[in-house]
Amino acid sequence: MLKKNDEQNDSRPESLDFIRTIIANDVKNNKHDSWVITRFPPEPNGHLHIGHAKAICLNFGISLENTKSRCHLRFDDTNPDKEEDKYIRAIKEDVKWLGFDWGDHLYYASDYFEKMYSYAEELIQNGKAYVCSLSPDEVRNTRGTLTEPGIASPDRNRPPEESLDLFRRMKAGEFDEGKYTLRAKIDMASGNFNMRDPAIYRIKKASHPRTGNSWCIYPMYDYAHCLEDAIEEITHSLCTLEFEDHRPLYDWYLDELKTPCHPRQIEFARLNLTYTVMSKRKLLELVEEKRVDDWDDPRMPTIAGLRRRGYTPSSIRNFCDRIGIAKRDSTVDVALLEFYIRDELNKTAPRTMGVLKPLKVVIENYPDDQTEELDAINNPEDESAGTRKLPFAKVLYIERDDFMEDPPKKFFRLAPGREVRLRYAYFIKCTDVVKNPNTDEIEEIRCTYDPATKGGNAPDGRKVKATIHWVSAEHALNATVRLYDRLFNKENPLDGADYHNNLNSDSLQIIADAKLEPSLKSAKAESRYQFERLGYFFVDPKDSEDGKPVFNRIVTLRDAWQRIQKSGK
Ligand code: ATP
Ligand code: MG
Repeated sequence: MLKKNDEQNDSRPESLDFIRTIIANDVKNNKHDSWVITRFPPEPNGHLHIGHAKAICLNFGISLENTKSRCHLRFDDTNPDKEEDKYIRAIKEDVKWLGFDWGDHLYYASDYFEKMYSYAEELIQNGKAYVCSLSPDEVRNTRGTLTEPGIASPDRNRPPEESLDLFRRMKAGEFDEGKYTLRAKIDMASGNFNMRDPAIYRIKKASHPRTGNSWCIYPMYDYAHCLEDAIEEITHSLCTLEFEDHRPLYDWYLDELKTPCHPRQIEFARLNLTYTVMSKRKLLELVEEKRVDDWDDPRMPTIAGLRRRGYTPSSIRNFCDRIGIAKRDSTVDVALLEFYIRDELNKTAPRTMGVLKPLKVVIENYPDDQTEELDAINNPEDESAGTRKLPFAKVLYIERDDFMEDPPKKFFRLAPGREVRLRYAYFIKCTDVVKNPNTDEIEEIRCTYDPATKGGNAPDGRKVKATIHWVSAEHALNATVRLYDRLFNKENPLDGADYHNNLNSDSLQIIADAKLEPSLKSAKAESRYQFERLGYFFVDPKDSEDGKPVFNRIVTLRDAWQRIQKSGK
């Protein structure tokens, strides 16, 4: 967990964004007795995604940066329809995994149902709310337009006593759904639709995961949210830009009701990422339609998916820090997220060798029964990581892509008659190509090695143009490696009639028989490695078994995707 004034708190931004500037001023001016209380208020109707990570880093980050401060985790569980307990558990796990701690401040909006109800009675008694008998359709049709005011409900001037009586009977379950709503009496001519007598309560005969069947009326989001904030004495209520037009209503409720405090709502731009969708509703669709395995499918932009892909909490926090907080919506290139994990793993991930598409190589002049142990450096970026031994023998595997029988001009790797370096081993030269006589496919290549080049350098100073990776066939670990690519093949998957058309059919490639260096046999679940020249890989915690790790590709070494796209191939 990150702590206040923790040196490890890498989420701390270098300069103040507009929200932190407002807060710093409030603290300086002793507003709220210099307290800063923020909250992260997810609705438990799905798993969190990377967009939520931005809101989490902002709210919890601000709390960590201030002295008299805290951040609440509050489940905004006012809509019983789609909310489930399993999501509550998953959200808690995700927030913790990101490194944040709500301490004793875990709240549920549903715990305030009683208070919210009393506040509603207060509004009625003050002539600020009325029970309306219009159907949802009728309400919609009388809302007016941008140029015309709405039409007042026939019940708008219903006496408070009558509304109070009906409201209590709504609560008692006397009426069917849709028969009545409680509406705020504000301004049917307001230029802001949210102020045209919005609904406060609706009848919903639904069981709630926490309150069971105690309630058959449920508060609307705008009414509930500001009260939740006020009840918890939140000082700064940070939300995304789509709530900007709701702010007058947020303030209206809190002005009309005698709440313990009046938090300040401040809006910021939501995070959008290229090549993915970010709404819980669409992510749920992908799960339900089995386009992905589950919410934690490593291709998903969910926190659970990123975790299973092999992302670290710090890489996500660093990314959120870098994108910053702004007032204008924009879309961030997913390559930036990939940059942060690549940058971190470059410093921390042990190097290993693995061959994903094996091509057999026989070293003709190497003794048949000999095996030797060669020294390999674990991490050139970190001397303390030390070295390891790699077994070398007569039969090896190299990457199929590292050999071409008839190489074009710019291909410098292995080809007939050509010499290359085997990483940490020897120079080898290709002498022959063995093909299957029926299919003409290359089955193996024959090479010779130069014993004088042990360790990878020629004493006579001759150079080779390529260094390739390899594993000894006899010693290799056979393993499953899963290569993940973008879930969508369009920068903005929502651009077009149906986003399903933009799903990338090659987003998962499973290699069942990769040949990996033997040290990886003992790879622990959730550890991360670089496979030299290929990328960073994560030992899948669900599908791996002792001695049989399954690897998920976190990210390639360089951004192969952008290069391919630029070259138009
Ligand atoms: P979605 O639209 O993906 O379903 P939501 O806004 O309905 O998300 P909530 O559970 O209500 O999800 O969100 C909890 C908090 O996270 C809110 O304060 C919301 O503003 C914030 N949030 C949601 N999506 C993003 C995003 N893409 N970028 C930044 N903050 C976000
Ligand atoms: Mg929502």
